[in-house]
Amino acid sequence: MVSNHRPTKVIVDLEAIQANLHAQKAQLAEHQEIFAVVKANAYGHGAVPVAYAAKEAGATGFCVATIDEGVELRQAGLTEETILVLGVIPSYEAVYAAQYDLSVATGQIEFLHEAQELLAREAQKLKVHLALDTGMGRIGVSQADELQALVTFLEHSPEQFDFEGVFTHFAQADAADTSYYQKQVAKFNELVTQINPQPRYVHSANSATAQWHRDNPSNVVRMGISLYGLNPSGHELQPTTALKPALSLVSELAFVKKVPRGTALGYGSTYVSPSEEWIGTIPIGYADGWLRRMQGFEILIAGQKCPIVGRVCMDQLMVRLPGKLAVGSPVTLIGRDGDLEITAQDVADYAQTISYEVLCNLTDRLPRVYR
Ligand code: PLP
Repeated sequence: MVSNHRPTKVIVDLEAIQANLHAQKAQLAEHQEIFAVVKANAYGHGAVPVAYAAKEAGATGFCVATIDEGVELRQAGLTEETILVLGVIPSYEAVYAAQYDLSVATGQIEFLHEAQELLAREAQKLKVHLALDTGMGRIGVSQADELQALVTFLEHSPEQFDFEGVFTHFAQADAADTSYYQKQVAKFNELVTQINPQPRYVHSANSATAQWHRDNPSNVVRMGISLYGLNPSGHELQPTTALKPALSLVSELAFVKKVPRGTALGYGSTYVSPSEEWIGTIPIGYADGWLRRMQGFEILIAGQKCPIVGRVCMDQLMVRLPGKLAVGSPVTLIGRDGDLEITAQDVADYAQTISYEVLCNLTDRLPRVYR
């Protein structure tokens, strides 16, 4: 449930998303399209508004992780674009996916057999992208004979299947050492050349591939994290396009008090004030996706850095203030306040994870506001 009657919210700058997409598009070859990866509620940014913004900026398709995420876009009026479900779906959902004109990934002949029967019965046709496992070890075929069997099956079932694409996913396109990436490219090329004629979409590029491997074998870039303005490699490589973070997480000071020296704060009393100090309470916690391990991290309040003291609770956290500040003072947990900025990458570094996880963790309780 969205908690609208609370000052804690996610603010999404759709122009930043469009600027990130334009910057990437400017680097691509004429024949390369961009599919905006809007799975997981557009990495926490809100799938439908992001999809519309990306479409306006030139995205010709979308990638989602589940059928339901694809249906959400169709029901929101995005009826023309390709919507590719990146995760495998059960064969008994093939008809439903086809009814919403979703494209699905597969690498299993059993899926095609089972889906064909169901599709034939309902007179439906499903768009298919064959997944090639070139080293990610997740989904897809890795052997030439298996691939041939899939292609042959698709060719022999033109009433039930539209063989729309073939793709792979790189495990290390964001690494300074390119050897594993090169190995995957070689394997992809070797497998793809067997397919004749090739489908409309031959794709392999995620954000990192588009950033650092311009010669990638792809006529579609599946642009995810860089669309949201974050560096796919964390700190390992410098971005090659301007990246503007699109998401801010803000709140307000809800409660302010002066505590004497020796005051214990929060569960477990993990913080005891070393002197008299001003403490503020902010209405956000781990139920919003602000991780419990963020104790000690500095957030911005009225333009100043303030450390989180005591354990982060489910719905609230405490901070040490530089002095008395008014209830209602603006709080920035991710984003910019004056000259200071906290990025999702900063949060990720502190929490020892990646920016993707920080963004996807932000729960539905947080309203999304668009600028
Ligand atoms: N393609 C596939 C198959 C993915 O699984 C993902 C993300 O997990 C992406 C593209 C987008 O990746 P990124 O956000 O690194 O651009």
